[in-house]
Amino acid sequence: MDENPAGLPDEFLKRLKEFLPAELHDAVSETFLLPRRAAVRINPLRGDPTTIREGLIAAGVELTPVPWSEVSFSIPTAHREIASRSPASERGEVYLQSLSSQLAAVVLAPNPCDQVLDLAAAPGGKAAHLAALMQNQGLLSCVEPIRSRFFRLQANLKQQGITIARFYMTDGRTVGNKVGPRFDRALLDAPCSGEARFSTTDPSSFATWSLRKIRETSRKQIGLIKSAFQSLKPGGRLLYATCSFAPEENERVVASLLKKFPEQAGILPIDFPTRENLPGILAPNAEIPRLPGLNQFGDETFPDDLNKTLRIIPNHLYDGFYLALIEKKFGS
Ligand code: SAM
Repeated sequence: MDENPAGLPDEFLKRLKEFLPAELHDAVSETFLLPRRAAVRINPLRGDPTTIREGLIAAGVELTPVPWSEVSFSIPTAHREIASRSPASERGEVYLQSLSSQLAAVVLAPNPCDQVLDLAAAPGGKAAHLAALMQNQGLLSCVEPIRSRFFRLQANLKQQGITIARFYMTDGRTVGNKVGPRFDRALLDAPCSGEARFSTTDPSSFATWSLRKIRETSRKQIGLIKSAFQSLKPGGRLLYATCSFAPEENERVVASLLKKFPEQAGILPIDFPTRENLPGILAPNAEIPRLPGLNQFGDETFPDDLNKTLRIIPNHLYDGFYLALIEKKFGS
């Protein structure tokens, strides 16, 4: 295959090869040439999931189930418009959200009545998913500093029938110090370079990529993860996620937290739930394509435990994604 078929930054492709096994190079590079994969999540806060699912099918949307959730389905890219313009979507019964993004709330697994923080929340796809898993009980504090995105977040959650959310327009880096250890769960779906969303069908997705920006973003993420961790109660859990492949935005950020809180912070293994009696036929290769987090990148080494974190490898169903589940073992 052509080394750089459609103008993706050379340095980006070179780095990708440094941490992907050789047998995945071509398959992963090809995913950048495809239109983005599509998926929906059915919102049980707005109605009976079976009825909503049947309504979507009747509207012409082909739904393919996944093994780890009863309300998540991949759909053909060509059906994205039908799903997003459907009355069910207008009523907040259905939300277009990539499968990889949907894994975040599933892995963090909040309980009803928990106190949950979403530290980088707009436009609110994952916050809404957290609220659905909490059955709209407890408290969901949502932080977003960018005004236009903040209002979109509020509107999205309202549309999806969420009543447990509180909204804060502020820099997430200030939150941990301000609120202290009060949350059972925290999600940090960090602002990032978006490398895993690069698509040659949309050159603007990678037009401003640079190593300098990645280093800048990494510094911001290090401030945010510290704040998210400070906000946890003892026994609380933090999920750190990005849609970037860059080790500076992933393993380096998590390693910085382990260094800052060597006794208190522990990385947990990530398990995905599985379910039986799937309605419909499972897609071929429905297994989540994943690799362990890195222990080395160039000259930089990361603690052994970083291989408990996960890199979702893009394929025909999943976008690239990074997930790290961290526990606060004790203390304030
Ligand atoms: N979790 C969101 C969802 O599922 O819809 C997507 C979050 S997006 C990856 C990252 C968000 O972080 C953006 O909305 C961005 O504006 C916000 N952000 C940027 N700087 C921030 C900061 N200092 N504190 C908190 N959020 C920030």
